[in-house]
Amino acid sequence: MSDTQTLNRDLTLEALFEAGLFIDTGTAGLHGRSGAFEAVVNGLEALITHPADGAEVMRFPPAMGRKHFAKSGYFKNFPHLSGCVHSFCGTEKDHAGVLKAMNNGEAWGEDFAPTEVVLTPAACYPLYPMTAARGPLPHDGALYDVQSFCFRHEPSQDPGRLQMFRQREYVRIGTAEQVLAFRALWLTRSQAMMQSLDLPHTVDVANDPFFGRAGKLMAASQREHELKFELLAPIASSDNPTACVSFNYHQQYFGLNWGIVTEDGAPAHTACVGFGLERTALALMRRHGLKPASWPVAVKDHLQL
Ligand code: AMP
Ligand code: ZN
Repeated sequence: MSDTQTLNRDLTLEALFEAGLFIDTGTAGLHGRSGAFEAVVNGLEALITHPADGAEVMRFPPAMGRKHFAKSGYFKNFPHLSGCVHSFCGTEKDHAGVLKAMNNGEAWGEDFAPTEVVLTPAACYPLYPMTAARGPLPHDGALYDVQSFCFRHEPSQDPGRLQMFRQREYVRIGTAEQVLAFRALWLTRSQAMMQSLDLPHTVDVANDPFFGRAGKLMAASQREHELKFELLAPIASSDNPTACVSFNYHQQYFGLNWGIVTEDGAPAHTACVGFGLERTALALMRRHGLKPASWPVAVKDHLQL
């Protein structure tokens, strides 16, 4: 395929494997990434980073404790996306039984018991219990910079829908005014960033994929109150662009849930901006082609490629 043929062409997994940008592991939504792909991700991370904001940088492992997961409310709203780590806890006899099943290509796993570890569903989740444990917020509230692999059980052949992917987030905790100003700032900033990368995009009100019948009401309410916006750009389909960045206002949900309080003792408001790093890189690949080395010079300069 020539470079010009790949420009602005909707992406398929096959094309990404063929170009060597994604590496096939044989499992849906669980792909390796090449050096060229990671160079784009690194460039994006550098553009997202705003040291002058004075955010506290934190990196957590891509898993959280079972107790914190249970308390977070994630399972209430998104049971279908959750993933827990189970480990073998059987006897030697059980071990032999599992090996036999594995060798025969049969089902196995009944001897695996749940561990203390649950896969992180969103990069900001480990922050809330940690912030609560620190006591009341200072006058200026708190601002964090986090990045983590996240797990969501949504196996798919869509190149932009992964089971394990990275979110780079800035998270603001404080008063309603503080967190809404933060969200407005990032709505502007991220659009300017995409413009500098010559990435056509739209921003729209959105909702999370809440589970079940009650979830439909929650999604409608989330939209009505404009709690979630998404920056969308085409990846697999020009007609259905993919959310590459999310701008979430949680109101006092996490503040009340975790007991995070402002200086004067009121439940804190929280907001986060979450960049899907793989998705943003993929949107650029759809736009500029599957050879980052051949991208427009200005785009490469911005990404330090
Ligand atoms: P959310 O917490 O759902 O708002 O997700 C934040 C960002 O993570 C989204 O804007 C996407 O860019 C990215 N993201 C969410 N789900 C996936 C997925 N299954 N695969 C890849 N990226 C994802
Ligand atoms: Zn978040």
